[in-house]
Amino acid sequence: MSQSADTLNNPIEHNVDCYKRDTCRLCGSQNLDLVMPLPATPIADGYFSIERKDESQACYALDLYLCQGCGLVHLCDVVNPELIYRQYLYETTTSPGLVAHFQKYADDVLSRIKLSPGSLVLEIGSNDGTLLNFFRGRGLCVLGVDPAREIAQRATQAGVETWPEFFSVDLSERIKHQKGPADVVIANNVMANIDDLDSFIKGVRNVLSPQGIFIFETGYWVDSVHNLVFDNVYHEHISYFSVKPLVTFFKKHGMELICVDRTPTKGGSIRGTVQVAGGSRKVEACVLEFIETEIREGFYRPAMYKEFAGNINCQKEKLLGLLRRLKAESKTIAGYGASHSVTTFLYYFGITGQFLDFIVDDNPRKHNTLSPGLHVPVFASEAIYEKRPDYILILAWRFAEIVMKKHQKYLQDNGHFITPLPTPRLHQ
Ligand SMILES: [Zn+2]
Repeated sequence: MSQSADTLNNPIEHNVDCYKRDTCRLCGSQNLDLVMPLPATPIADGYFSIERKDESQACYALDLYLCQGCGLVHLCDVVNPELIYRQYLYETTTSPGLVAHFQKYADDVLSRIKLSPGSLVLEIGSNDGTLLNFFRGRGLCVLGVDPAREIAQRATQAGVETWPEFFSVDLSERIKHQKGPADVVIANNVMANIDDLDSFIKGVRNVLSPQGIFIFETGYWVDSVHNLVFDNVYHEHISYFSVKPLVTFFKKHGMELICVDRTPTKGGSIRGTVQVAGGSRKVEACVLEFIETEIREGFYRPAMYKEFAGNINCQKEKLLGLLRRLKAESKTIAGYGASHSVTTFLYYFGITGQFLDFIVDDNPRKHNTLSPGLHVPVFASEAIYEKRPDYILILAWRFAEIVMKKHQKYLQDNGHFITPLPTPRLHQ
């Protein structure tokens, strides 16, 4: 699910572009190890118009810290959300695939909790209300919270009442007063972007009925590491969750993580179910199994991150060797993909305009822009056939199969694709 601009209550009181916290976001410990320094980057989605080519973009630290207290991996440098989301344009992501996903999501939730007609389902970051609409269809009361005014208005007009506000303890109080407590609270892809998670979860607990459940979906850090999706690290995502630190965090707030399911979205995600501590449901065995696996695989030891970075650095050297050879032969190379992840990827791999002649992307919003910081021009994918680069490096490498399938014609015309990860490969 996408977020609108944005759902998130990051109350940076500091009137600054970025501030650095020195405590863990979940447990408050000051015992933090810098386990993976990534190069500082500009705001990852800050693609900007070619007319502004003489401007430079500020870079912000992008270092990953491991909390020795609870095991959370997170960024301590928090960029002011005003800066991140100022240029954020909402685009609806409701596609047939996503609608089916939400239908199944609603069915899964309803198999977990018995609700009577009139029970309240609250979604934080509800966007256009697609998910809530399925609950509404089952005779339940629904309420969305999403600060993007236009989206909230459209959702409300379509029958899913949506308050255009940031979620907070105060708002949870107003909801309780006007609508009663919620039996289900949902937050999808919201928690990783929130700096003040203590306040957020206090609000959730406050609005939840005694037997209610809180369900969240978020990227699973363990999957990111296994799948080498290091480029999912950028300033919008402040926390990289695994199960163990979340259990400690919910406990601190009088809540209990009772079940964890895996979902395939975003390179590997988890869906957690939480109840008020001492509720009627049992903690399922899977929670402990997740934790045991995380510990066994070394996710709470700095050494594991050294190995992880070492593996990526090894692929980086192989790829740079290949690109240098191609440039020495005066080959032209284009990049494919202009997303958030690509900014992290290009900075980490040190791939600049020296290697890339241009980038193409399918999203019209990115066309005729320059990439953040490095200023590589971005065009529509038709440019592949107009400019005919000798090689295309697939920067959106998780979608490499789709890209190559879509551009078979380029391959047939003697073009070559390069996929950078899990290990650099030439396709011709
Ligand atoms: Zn911690």
